Amino acid sequence: MPHPVYIGLGSNLQDPASQIEQSFQTLDQLSQTRLVKHSRLYSSKPLGPQDQPDFVNAVCLIETELDPQTLLAALQEIEHNQGRIKKRRWGERNIDLDILLYADQKLQTQTLTIPHPEIAQRDFVLLPLAEITPGLLIPELGPVEDLISQLETTFVIPLALERQS
Ligand code: ADP
Ligand code: MG
Repeated sequence: MPHPVYIGLGSNLQDPASQIEQSFQTLDQLSQTRLVKHSRLYSSKPLGPQDQPDFVNAVCLIETELDPQTLLAALQEIEHNQGRIKKRRWGERNIDLDILLYADQKLQTQTLTIPHPEIAQRDFVLLPLAEITPGLLIPELGPVEDLISQLETTFVIPLALERQS
């Protein structure tokens, strides 16, 4: 039985929009996995060091039969293949792929925390989630729209439509 999984994507190096488009395609081609839908692309300010380019962010919904650890390894392989080099914490990157939600599972291991612990604080995750799945319930936190209304400020804006495919 395939599991619905939400993935968060972010990039601020080497043509971020196409990095994200490329990851959508690669996720759709992953074994035992298909891409169900993805959000539009959003622009956001970097979380950490400010002397780096703005980010492009998006989320997508996949259906996969890969278990969470196997999926994480697959995401890390995609990051690696798209040339991700680990720089500073919260620093610039070609592509970052995070597991936001895995069905309604809760998981806490050395390498994996699901749901992703920062969901509730991140406008660039919440807005695209609400776009693709209005009313989405975040386990233990409630509907995504409630979390959006609790954000103090949001800086995230959709990228100009003409730049989106
Ligand atoms: P970040 O996403 O925090 O900017 P990284 O992408 O380098 O930084 O991830 C650091 C580590 O976070 C990964 O090695 C991975 O083991 C761990 N991690 C924990 N929970 C998750 C999750 N839900 N999705 C992706 N990575 C996760
Ligand atoms: Mg990550």
